[in-house]
Amino acid sequence: MTSEIALTRIGVVGTDSGVGKTVVACAIIAAMREAGARVAPMKPIGRRGAGDIEQMRAASTISYADRLVQPVAFEDAASPLVSSRRGHAPIDVEMLDRAFAELCTMSDAVVVEEAGGLLAPITETESFATLFRRWGLDIVIVSPNGVGAVSQVLMNTHIVREYGLRVRAVVLTTLSRARGGTAERTNQALLKELLLTVPVVSFPYVESPADPRQLMTLARELSASPTIARPA
Ligand SMILES: [Mg+2]
Repeated sequence: MTSEIALTRIGVVGTDSGVGKTVVACAIIAAMREAGARVAPMKPIGRRGAGDIEQMRAASTISYADRLVQPVAFEDAASPLVSSRRGHAPIDVEMLDRAFAELCTMSDAVVVEEAGGLLAPITETESFATLFRRWGLDIVIVSPNGVGAVSQVLMNTHIVREYGLRVRAVVLTTLSRARGGTAERTNQALLKELLLTVPVVSFPYVESPADPRQLMTLARELSASPTIARPA
């Protein structure tokens, strides 16, 4: 292994599951790819067949090996520690570290998606927060734009900073085509006001985010903020 390291390391963290983490990860990957970067996707622990790694790899357009992109796959959707106990298969955190390090040597950027939330336990002593701290990731917080979004984003920001990590951006996702109310219309401005220097991006609803053209619509929202999508 060489001493070359990825210039950009991003961790995509959701305020809940099913909030659009994979779509945001894909948009980041696509925006960086458009800027000419080799971007490695990683979902270190995931549910087998969930489709996340296939979508991320399609956005990257580079075929990194499964053993690096998703070193640990479980059959059920639960916290990694629960899945590993049910399967009698403790998660080898050093193996995850090695896979991440290997992706860093092959790429200009690595975009990592958690599973189950930032504080979801991976082993008795590790969570995604400890893993991402060791990997030096900059965190993108993903929240669905709704009444509870401001508090959820601030709570996650608090935890990210508690672990000594930096919030690179906040992305508010729109999960349905229904017309939003006051919260949906004001959340982005309020979060910008409260988070000062952190870019806060709002994604419009798209019917098929896996569709490359619709994904590029979202990627362009990120490209408008160079601090998010710049690969270096
Ligand atoms: Mg996902």
